Amino acid sequence: MKRLFKNLLSFPCNSKLIFNLSENLLHRSSGGYILSFHDLSPETFETHVNSLKPSEPISLDELIKRYKSGKSIKNCFAITFDDGVEETVMGNWNICKKNNWPVTFYLPTDYLNGENLPYQKIQIIEKLLNKYHLPEKIKNKTQLLSKKNLIKYLTDMLYVKNHETINENINYFLKLISKNPEYKNKNLMPKAISWEKVKDISKNSLSSFQSHSVSHTACSSLSEKELKNEMLTSKKTIEDFTGRKVNSFCYPYGSKRSISDLSVQVASKYFETATTLIRGRLKNSNLHYLPRIDLYEEHPISFVRLKVALS
Ligand SMILES: [Zn+2]
Repeated sequence: MKRLFKNLLSFPCNSKLIFNLSENLLHRSSGGYILSFHDLSPETFETHVNSLKPSEPISLDELIKRYKSGKSIKNCFAITFDDGVEETVMGNWNICKKNNWPVTFYLPTDYLNGENLPYQKIQIIEKLLNKYHLPEKIKNKTQLLSKKNLIKYLTDMLYVKNHETINENINYFLKLISKNPEYKNKNLMPKAISWEKVKDISKNSLSSFQSHSVSHTACSSLSEKELKNEMLTSKKTIEDFTGRKVNSFCYPYGSKRSISDLSVQVASKYFETATTLIRGRLKNSNLHYLPRIDLYEEHPISFVRLKVALS
């Protein structure tokens, strides 16, 4: 129903003419923006980007350079992908290469070093957890005996809690799943891209690998010392592997409640830019609190255009 509504709402944007018209009317003097993608198929990605013509992708660095110097960024956007899932990076990198599109991949370095992302663990719990008891600490929250409530509880935790609290909760349920011989020792979660492949892709100047922290923890849950570690360690690791400068940071989860003022301050010490998942265009933007427009697999072209036109 929700999808039907979205499709109906965005029907006029099926027409390229109407999309161009609304772009021109709404964004006469500005226009630049950053797209954010997560896991989506190369076919959908290519269709989404092509649907935004005559706007063309340029590199994030170039977009920021033009924006900072006051040059026009009308009809320009940058492409970014978060999280470094191997299948996503490889498939979509091929599309970027084929079309000559510059692209930025934000990497959480612990994931590439073998530790799965917290939300991937929750997806496994959602998919595979059967019967369960609650761990001692949350034993009284009987509403969590409904799996739907449990998943919501764990997911909400991701946006505001630190690594230890999240792992303590998630690992309890993962352990229950791994007791099932069917799933034991099986790699159930999406694989991260390898450092070898990052190294190889980064030889091509169309690509850019930037920091998405070490552990993909909500920055609002971290102390100054922890923030510094998340930012600097990931920056150095990526620079060491690629031999190229890391000058941009992407806040994990990216919404207001996952980003503290302190994290913006720390990011501005070590990076030229930092990106959020707060929707918008580059217009009076804080360079360390940059908006992005996030697009997903299920969005039809008309909705992509509507979202971009209204951002
Ligand atoms: Zn992320």
